[in-house]
Amino acid sequence: MQFKYSKPKTIEELSMLKSNYNAKLLAGGTDLMVKLRAKSCKPEIIIDTKGLGKNEIKFENEKVIIPLNTTYSDLLKNKKFKEKFPMLVDIIKKIGSPQIRNRATPIGNICNASPAGDFLLATYLYHGYAYIKPTNKKIKISQLIDGPGKIKLKPEEFIYSIELKERIGYEYYYEKVGKRNAMNISIISLGIVLKKKQNIIEEIKIAYGSVGPTIIRFEDLEKSVIGKEITRDLFDWLGEQYTKRINPITDVRATAEYRKKMVKNLLIKAFYNLNKTFQEG
Ligand SMILES: Cc1cc2nc3c(=O)[nH]c(=O)nc-3n(C[C@H](O)[C@H](O)[C@H](O)COP(=O)(O)OP(=O)(O)OC[C@H]3O[C@@H](n4cnc5c(N)ncnc54)[C@H](O)[C@@H]3O)c2cc1C
Repeated sequence: MQFKYSKPKTIEELSMLKSNYNAKLLAGGTDLMVKLRAKSCKPEIIIDTKGLGKNEIKFENEKVIIPLNTTYSDLLKNKKFKEKFPMLVDIIKKIGSPQIRNRATPIGNICNASPAGDFLLATYLYHGYAYIKPTNKKIKISQLIDGPGKIKLKPEEFIYSIELKERIGYEYYYEKVGKRNAMNISIISLGIVLKKKQNIIEEIKIAYGSVGPTIIRFEDLEKSVIGKEITRDLFDWLGEQYTKRINPITDVRATAEYRKKMVKNLLIKAFYNLNKTFQEG
């Protein structure tokens, strides 16, 4: 396969190339290269975003701004990020291998729009927004995702940075189930952030990966348990609601039946892990 390669140095040049050709952006390339090899995409031109450089990771108003070309390793090296986003640190450590994390970027994970994307799932829990250039729009990341591998960007548009909200005083749970611990695409994943007072839910966000065409969150179910006491019965009930609504597919990694069972099982496991004091004898 033949394609042109370009490494523009300005937003305008990058945007112009992207809109004038059948183009693919290249950040770390860890998803793109796999697709090129499999010939599942055949671009006329590869546009390397690294020509735009790498801005600093910024912290403002209880948010972090992660710019284009920031790698997972950059985030893991950032002291403030580690302090303020411990759940994301745990998630990132489960992505690929150190070599992959040295190249791969959270923005690439979002734009790849895989329902198994670990960082993408986290953005659903952290009120994630994307800043789009050259149009200067700010869009909720969940609203940008349009299906497996599909992201709603105009031909000239690309993600310039993302913003995530701190979750101070929250507890969290993240689990990805796969055939191996490392270098693994999940069969199902579950992420939860929970804010509680005594044993009462003040806020909860629950996101599942790899059980639908996109990351799955049901805000009405989350709202329905606000003000309720955290009990095994409540999580059993929640597990049943998610099982009714989620209709996973069978693929090479697992059957639909297995995934459906795991929807509830993972939620029960989360209940016992979120606060060890709930553990029954
Ligand atoms: C061995 C291996 C293990 C892996 N393990 C995991 C894992 O455990 N969990 C996981 O979630 N993923 C995993 N991945 C997938 C991949 O590493 C991640 O999704 C990574 O975050 C992608 O980032 P990237 O910078 O390499 O993206 P790239 O491959 O550079 O880009 C991905 C897609 O996004 C587009 N794109 C890139 N930047 C932009 C932009 N600014 N605006 C618009 N579009 C853009 C590209 O054109 C491409 O379509 C693994 C991959 C490999 C090869």
